[in-house]
Amino acid sequence: MLNIETIRKDFPILHQTVNGKPLIYLDNAATSQKPLAVINAIDDYYKRYNSNIHRGAHHLAQIATEEYENARTNVAKHINANSEREINFVRGTTEAINLVASTYGRKNLKAGDEIIISEMEHHSNIVPWQMLCEEKGATLRTIPINEAGEIIYEEYLKLLSEKTKIVSIAYISNALGTEHPVKQLIADAHKVGAVVFIDGAQALPHKLVDVQDLDCDFLGFSGHKVFAGTGIGILYGKEAILEAMPPYMGGGEMIKQVSFKCTTYNNLPYKFEAGTPHIEGGISLGAALTYMQSVGVENIAAYEHELLIYATEKMQQIEGLRIVGTSKHKSSVVSFLVGDIHPYDMGVLLNEQGIAIRTGHHCCQPLMDRFNIEGTCRASFAFYNTKEEIDVLVKAVTKAAMILN
Ligand SMILES: *Cc1c(COP(=O)(O)O)cnc(C)c1O
Repeated sequence: MLNIETIRKDFPILHQTVNGKPLIYLDNAATSQKPLAVINAIDDYYKRYNSNIHRGAHHLAQIATEEYENARTNVAKHINANSEREINFVRGTTEAINLVASTYGRKNLKAGDEIIISEMEHHSNIVPWQMLCEEKGATLRTIPINEAGEIIYEEYLKLLSEKTKIVSIAYISNALGTEHPVKQLIADAHKVGAVVFIDGAQALPHKLVDVQDLDCDFLGFSGHKVFAGTGIGILYGKEAILEAMPPYMGGGEMIKQVSFKCTTYNNLPYKFEAGTPHIEGGISLGAALTYMQSVGVENIAAYEHELLIYATEKMQQIEGLRIVGTSKHKSSVVSFLVGDIHPYDMGVLLNEQGIAIRTGHHCCQPLMDRFNIEGTCRASFAFYNTKEEIDVLVKAVTKAAMILN
């Protein structure tokens, strides 16, 4: 069991008022708040040992390198990777997908090949593949979804063929909270010889992800959604696949030897990390994962499930409210509409009550088209949220609905 009172003390930002009301932060799917452990790790880096990493002979460079590499080791353990060589620091989920599309994709795809994604992907898991398909003359196929916001599995099986080279899907949808059966999906993709990229942006903040158990070929996620800083994220890839991939950006750090005749590339994971990296970002990510481990990721998952059930029940009682995305397998997101009220108007009125939700298409325009809506209101929870906050949300939505109707 979690002691939420204690946990909330770890997050200084939560203790403020907005428009005269206590802040209720329910926009965790866009970015999560940072515990003191993370804020202090960044502070400590700049106060004590700011220095460029690797190759430094001096004291500060040694500490910085050690802390950065410790963070990598922590990430490897956290997702149960085989080795640190499989853990590449990138800017976030978006860069992880672009990296795979422009290296693995460019090398391995040819005209007539196919990439499969779902109809409910984030734009960052659509556009890089579209760009790759355009360049290669390949085709992007999409798994349709049902009214509950679940992928239709039989349709996925029909799309798979020897033409399928890449399957890329979010573990958990940011717009609806649907959790997809990714383990099965990966196994079925492997049967036709395709590699699978799992967009873990919404999974890592809420549950344990074990890359060996899933057997995914790639996994991407963003630091800022797992309670670390912005501008840092992870691309995990199976070592043999990363080894065979051409480098991404050229520059310092990613090379072994440079001459005008012939340049050789560095070993994994440095091959994909050109230039001075986001050092304090990597360190903040390590600190964030350590914090989550100390709270217990399984405790987090169990508590958030309780919050989701509670919120779903309470919100369904609001007259005219419709939840978009009603899969049995969901995590921490309630996307909703009330009557014909425009989500933005709802968002503005909730803000007046100190409540932060997100409104709009949530970077999933094709999904909104599928439901014939422009957008939704989205409340997304983290383990520092409480049932009391949900009660305030329900009251505020009810009141706003009366004003706007
Ligand atoms: C946030 C998010 C992304 C993009 O992450 P960035 O941090 O903006 O790179 C991709 N997919 C999903 C499911 C997300 O929630």
